[in-house]
Amino acid sequence: MPDTQTAEMHPQRWGDPAAAAPLPESARGLIELAFGLDDRPAVNEVSLPEAGIAPTLLDGLRDLLGPDQVCTDDETRRLRTRGKSTPDLLRARAGDLSDAPDAVLRPGSHEEVAAILAYAVEHHLAVVPFGGGTCVTGGLVARREGYAGLLSLDLVRMKRLLAVDHVSMTATLEPGLRGPEAEALLAAEGLTLGHYPQSFEYASIGGFAATRSSGQSSAGYGRFDALVVGLRVATPIGELALGSAPANAAGPDLRQLVLGSEGAFGVITAVTVRVRRLPAEKVYEGWRWPSFEAGADAMRTLAQSGLLPTVLRLSDEAETGINLARPDEIGGESAGGCMMITGYEGEPGAVAARRREVTDLLAGLGGVCLGEEPGRSWAHGRFHAPYLRDSLLDVGVLVETLETATFWSNRERLYADVKAALEKSLGEGTIVLCHISHVYETGCSLYFTVAAKEGPEPLEQWGEAKAAACDAMMAAGATITHHHAVGTDHKPWLATEIGAVGVSILRAVKADLDPTGVLNPGVLVP
Ligand SMILES: Cc1cc2nc3c(=O)[nH]c(=O)nc-3n(C[C@H](O)[C@H](O)[C@H](O)COP(=O)(O)OP(=O)(O)OC[C@H]3O[C@@H](n4cnc5c(N)ncnc54)[C@H](O)[C@@H]3O)c2cc1C
Repeated sequence: MPDTQTAEMHPQRWGDPAAAAPLPESARGLIELAFGLDDRPAVNEVSLPEAGIAPTLLDGLRDLLGPDQVCTDDETRRLRTRGKSTPDLLRARAGDLSDAPDAVLRPGSHEEVAAILAYAVEHHLAVVPFGGGTCVTGGLVARREGYAGLLSLDLVRMKRLLAVDHVSMTATLEPGLRGPEAEALLAAEGLTLGHYPQSFEYASIGGFAATRSSGQSSAGYGRFDALVVGLRVATPIGELALGSAPANAAGPDLRQLVLGSEGAFGVITAVTVRVRRLPAEKVYEGWRWPSFEAGADAMRTLAQSGLLPTVLRLSDEAETGINLARPDEIGGESAGGCMMITGYEGEPGAVAARRREVTDLLAGLGGVCLGEEPGRSWAHGRFHAPYLRDSLLDVGVLVETLETATFWSNRERLYADVKAALEKSLGEGTIVLCHISHVYETGCSLYFTVAAKEGPEPLEQWGEAKAAACDAMMAAGATITHHHAVGTDHKPWLATEIGAVGVSILRAVKADLDPTGVLNPGVLVP
C-alpha cells in the first residue's frame, strides 16, 4: 500500500474538499460582465433513498468480506453516487441522490472480487466497479430496475504494486491505486508511468484501463491503453489473464476487449504496464502561432516527422485569450494568436537533442518561442481547472467539457461544426474554447470547454447542447469520444460509430462473459 492515501473527494464538487473556494475576486468582474452573477447555493442536507436490498443478502456479503468491508452508512453511499461530470455535480448539488448504491463493498483481492461476482450472479445483484469516481460519461450510473440490489464495488483497498521487472521495464499494479499513489510507488523504484490526465489526482489505474484514458503527456509516453501489456480480470464466468509476451499473434488481441470495457465485461484486478525511468529533467515552454490553423499544421508536421515532444497541446484563439486574460502578452504588437505548450522529459542529453530538433522545426514553420515561463505556468496549473468549474457553477455559470478526435484532413470541419452546434444550442453569449490535446501521425483530438449562463433547467439545457455537439461529431465522421469513454451518456451515438456488426460483437461478448447481466447494467453496451 502507498504511504499516502488519496483523500475522499467532496461529494458535490471536484477534488479535495479543503480546496473548495469561491470564484477568485480577479475573475468575478469578467464573469459578471459575460454572464451576470447568480449565486446558486448547493443543498447540503440531503437524505439518501432507503437501501433497496434485503438484509439477508447483506449478511451473505458480510460473510464473504467481513463486516467492515460492507458499508451501508449514508456518507459512504453518498460518496459512491455517480461520477464528476457537470450533470453529476448539478444533480448532487440539487440533493438528488436517487442513484446511490444500496451498499459499498470493499474487496481486498482478486479472489474476493471473484466471490462477490459469484454471489451477485446467484442473487441477481447489480455490481458497479468504482475506481476513482472521476467518470464524466455516466459510467457509474447503472440501471437498478429488475435487480435485487445495486452494489458499488469499491477498489479502494486494492492498492499494491504487485511486481516490478526492471529488466523488461514493466510493473504490475492493483486497480485501486490513484494516479499519485501509483507514481509514488514507482518512483521508489526509480520508475514512472507518465500518465497524467487532468483527473490524475483522483483517477485510478483500473479506471484508466477501463476507460482507455489519455494523459497530458500522451505525445511522449502514449495513451494508457498503449502502456498496458497485461491484465487480470474477474468475470462472472471466471478469470481472464492476458499478456504473457510483449507482443503476440495468438488471435485477436483480447486485451483490447477489456481496455475500454467500463466494468461491463469484468472487474480489472491487476494491470501490467510499460514503465520508463524517472526523468532527470522536465522542461516545458510556450510557443506563439498566428492562428489555430498554423499551430495545428505545425503539430501535424511534428507528428509526421517523428519529432514529438513529451507534451504537445495547442489552444485556439478563444482559449488562449481566456487562459492568459491578456492576449497581447503572446501577440506582441499584434494581439491574438494561439498558445502551444511543448514539454520534454527524460535524460538531459536526450531532452536537449529533442528540444533542439523540435525548436528548429517549429521556428522554421513560423512559430515564436516564448521561453519557459508559459510552460511553467501551464505545468503549475495543470490540475486546477476542475476547481474553477465548481466556482463558476456556484455563481450560475454552466461549464462543461467534451472531446472528440478525427483525421488531420477533417480537423477544421469538426472544429467548426462542434463549435457552431454548441453556440446555436446554448445561445448568445456562450463561450466555446478548444484545444488540441493529443496528436498522432494521422490526426488529433479536440477538447472543448463550454461556458454559458445557467438557465432554470440546467440539466436539460446542457443535455440538448451535448446532444447537438455529439450529432455534429457523428455528422462530421469523427469519434464520439477520444478518451472519456462511453458510459451511459455517449451510448446513443455508439451504434452510429461502430455499426450494427460492432454492436452485435459487444452484445455477444457481454452475453458470454456476463450472461445474467449483473455487471454495470446499462453502461457501454447498446
Ligand atoms: C475534472 C476531470 C478531468 C478529466 N481529465 C481527463 C483526462 O485528461 N484524460 C482522460 O482520459 N480522462 C479524463 N477524465 C475522465 C476520467 O478521469 C477518466 O475516465 C478516468 O480514467 C476514470 O478513472 P476512475 O478511476 O476515476 O474511474 P471511475 O470513474 O471510478 O470509473 C470509470 C468507469 O470504469 C469502470 N471501472 C472503474 N474501475 C474499474 C475496474 N477496476 N475494472 C472494471 N471497470 C472499472 C467504472 O465502473 C466506470 O464505468 C477527467 C474527468 C474529470 C472529472
